[in-house]
Order: sequence, then C-alpha cells, then structure tokens
Amino acid sequence: MNTSFTHPEFADHERVLFVNDKSAGLQAIIALHNTKRGFAIGGCRMWPYESAEAAFTDVLRLSRGMTYKNALAGISSGGGKSVIIGDPRTDKSPALFRAMGTAIESLGGRYIAAEDSGTSPADMAVMAEATSYVAGLESDSNSGDPSPSTALGVFLSIREAVSFRLGRSNLVGVRVHIQGLGKVGFELAKLLVRSGAIVVASDINEGNCRLAREELCIRTVSNEELLTGSCDVFAPCALGGVLNEWSIPALNATIIAGAANNQLLTQEDHVRLTNAGILYCPDYLINAGGVIDVYQRRHGGTQKEIDAGLSAIAARLSSILSEADSRCISPGKVAQERAESLINGSELVPIPTAVA
Ligand code: NAD
Repeated sequence: MNTSFTHPEFADHERVLFVNDKSAGLQAIIALHNTKRGFAIGGCRMWPYESAEAAFTDVLRLSRGMTYKNALAGISSGGGKSVIIGDPRTDKSPALFRAMGTAIESLGGRYIAAEDSGTSPADMAVMAEATSYVAGLESDSNSGDPSPSTALGVFLSIREAVSFRLGRSNLVGVRVHIQGLGKVGFELAKLLVRSGAIVVASDINEGNCRLAREELCIRTVSNEELLTGSCDVFAPCALGGVLNEWSIPALNATIIAGAANNQLLTQEDHVRLTNAGILYCPDYLINAGGVIDVYQRRHGGTQKEIDAGLSAIAARLSSILSEADSRCISPGKVAQERAESLINGSELVPIPTAVA
C-alpha cells in the first residue's frame, strides 16, 4: 500500500493527517493540499472505501481539486478535503463525528470542513461540538446544505454551454442525462425540468430513482443506458472517474457539465474528450457553487453576494470556453492555467489562529 510522498496523486500536498480513533469507530484522512491563499476549505466525505489506499487516493485528488476550485472561484482559501472510511447508511454515530471534529480542531484552523457526499448539515452540527472549524451549519435563515447552490451553479453553466455549443437561448427540449440523484443531482434535475429540458437519470440507489420518477416525472434508466444513450448534455453528479478511456468512446453526448468532483480519471481524458468532439466543462470550475455558499455564509456574506458568486461561475465558463476555442485547446487546459496563475501569484495568507 502506497500512502506516502511517492503516491502518484501526492502532488506536493502540504500535510496529511491519518485519524484512527478506535473507541469512536473513526478512521479518516484529512489532506491539506495548498494553503497559500488561506486556510483550506473543503468537504468531509463519508464513503465505504474498499481499502485505505482507495481512500487516500480519493482524498488527495479531492483536496488538490479544492485548491483549483477555490482559486478560480475567487475565494481567499486554499484546498483541503477529508474522508471518513465507513458506510454512511450504517456507520454514523455522534461519537464518530465528535472524534472527527477533534481531529479537525487539532489542525488549528488550517482546515475548515463542510458536508459532502455521505455527510449532512446534521453531521456537521455534531462535529461542531468539538471544533469551530466547520462551515455549512444550519441556522434560522439557512438549511446549511450547500447542495442547492452547487446545483444552481451547474444549471447556469449548462445553460451557458448549451448556448455556446448548440446556439440555443433556452433549455426547452434539450436532452440532459444526469448520473446520480443525490443532494445535487436531484436539485439539478428539478431546475432542468422547470426549464423545459428532457431529463433522464440513473442512480444505484433505487429509492432515489423512485422519488425522481414520482416527484419530477422523469425517466430513470440503468447506468449503462444513461452513459451510452444519445443526449445533448451528460451531467455526472455521482462520484469521480466516470470519464475514462473505456467510457469516453461509448459516450453519445455533445456537452459534459456536471457536479461530480474529479470526473476525469486521468489527464489524458481531456485529449480523449476533445478528439471525440465533446465539450467538457471543467468540474472544479462549474461545481463551485457550494463552496461559494459556505464561504460567504461563514464570512457574513449576504444572499445577494452568494447569488453574484453563482452567476460569476457561468460568466467565467463563458470566458474560458471562448478562450479555449480561439486557442484550439481544451477548456480544461485554460481553466488549469488560470487557476495555477492565481495560486502561484498569491501572496502568502497567514492562517488565522482565532475562529474565522
Ligand atoms: P450524494 O451522496 O448526495 O449523491 C450522490 C448520488 O450518486 C447518490 O444518490 C448515490 O447513490 C449516487 N451514485 C453513487 N455511485 C453511483 C454510480 N456509480 N452510478 C449512479 N449513481 C451513483 O452527493 P452530492 O452531495 O449530491 O454530490 C454529488 C457529487 O458532486 C459528488 O462527487 C460531490 O463530491 C460533488 N459535489 C458536491 C457538492 C455539494 O454541494 N454537495 C459540491 C461540489 C461537488
């Protein structure tokens, strides 16, 4: 098992913390990729990884992605992420989330957690009993769940990409395939249905599919049918790695724009998508709505400021798609260049010692 500096995804991480609290049943990893732009902010995922190495690989990839996402979103934060190894359906307990809070507290504000796949605002509230470094908490005016903001950012980006590639000014009749009907995918489906798009979706959880059929009147299909079926937009909203050397040749989509982090399994997949004539909207660019939401709320931002941040995602996508087109390179390459220039050009931001 390679859980060291030589791991292929290590990518110059500043710090990695392995947490093993037997009495609380907690095994977790917290990864801080880059805090040059400020303390790291990123979700806390809970997932039944098949091995510790799989969890390590995931947290490194997710944490690095947060550095790029936060920089492009204009947030004065670095990138970090945490993963709890466990099944969110059966392994949650107050002791586990308190222990996770204690581990986060030990980093002294270098990492701020928020909910992610497998965790909820209620779990964050339990973590907050042991640390103040948790964002996305429920309040009188807000559910604490950033997923609706993530979904809205992706929705606005889909509209932008459809206008750019298909020359359509609205989504009426546009066929969108959504993989994953969780917190973001379901909300995105709702927005798309309201806009007149024809939505088809898949989820490995049949309960989520049933709910979508009943509440949104959309068709649900198998993953294979979803990935290979003809559509205008494919929106990955489940887990990462869905775009790879095996899936890309079978895709029958014109645009890819979804919420999942790390949709591409490898960097070569950018080239595979470009060669296949598929317009790929970089995941960390368009799924930044959630982190904009939690960052703004933690810093006393207003709903107006959050809305402006979400609209800016689509404007940024538009500018990146135009530049990629004029330079004949992939949008992923342009997004990466812009993010790296923001990260490398940053002045060092001191880590706060008090609660932000
Ligand atoms: P979630 O756990 O609520 O939903 C994920 C859904 O995908 C679940 O319903 C699950 O059953 C389904 N799923 C898992 N594997 C699948 C597969 N192979 N095929 C089909 N369905 C599958 O998570 P979420 O919060 O909706 O996030 C979805 C994705 O978006 C994740 O990759 C997450 O990291 C990313 N993301 C989420 C947010 C947010 O605000 N929640 C922000 C940015 C990025």
